[in-house]
Amino acid sequence: MDTINILGVSFSKRTMDDTVKLLQKQLASTDKPLFHLITANPEIVMAARNNPQLREIVEEADLITPDGIGIVLAAKWQGEHIPERVTGYDMLVRLLEGAKQQPFSLYVVGADEETNAKSVEIIKDRYPGVTIVGRHNGFFNAEQEDAFVADIEQKRPDMVIVALGAPGAEKWIYKHKSRIKAKIAFGVGGSLDVIAG
Ligand code: UDP
Repeated sequence: MDTINILGVSFSKRTMDDTVKLLQKQLASTDKPLFHLITANPEIVMAARNNPQLREIVEEADLITPDGIGIVLAAKWQGEHIPERVTGYDMLVRLLEGAKQQPFSLYVVGADEETNAKSVEIIKDRYPGVTIVGRHNGFFNAEQEDAFVADIEQKRPDMVIVALGAPGAEKWIYKHKSRIKAKIAFGVGGSLDVIAG
């Protein structure tokens, strides 16, 4: 078994290296449905216990990685071993770095307009293997949302990253799962703010 159940959430026991390899394999595939990755911290685990909608989202996710030392420790208390934290930011950086060998296209959703625009410029500069095919900030009305989801649907990026807070990003990906024609989508928390400095 490469997962462990912690308070109802099935966590991956993979290392960061193995997780990145799995995602790169997914990026190389041509015929797979959207892979919804969740990097879950203890807050999400607790919220999923009390929120049936969030529980359903978590149950349907394709991979849940331990984003927080609390999850690693909880595994230990259960007599299991999770080798390390696998956080959204670290994973994002590893995937962006990997684009040098394995180029991919990216759509960037979330954060305020200035942060979104700046992080896109920095990613373009820093990671030449990444082609950013579209972006939208994280503050939108229903009409704007429908328009940029249609843009994602049409552009079919390899990856969609979503900074809408947690569990805002997870809910958003789940809501649009059938229209996000991508290979991987995941919530990246405050990563765009970190990248934009
Ligand atoms: N965010 C957003 N729209 C929202 C809520 C949050 O774009 O409606 C962005 C926020 O600007 C930040 C990121 O989501 O870039 C993470 O937000 P926060 O740190 O509040 O979330 P956390 O991951 O800590 O829950």
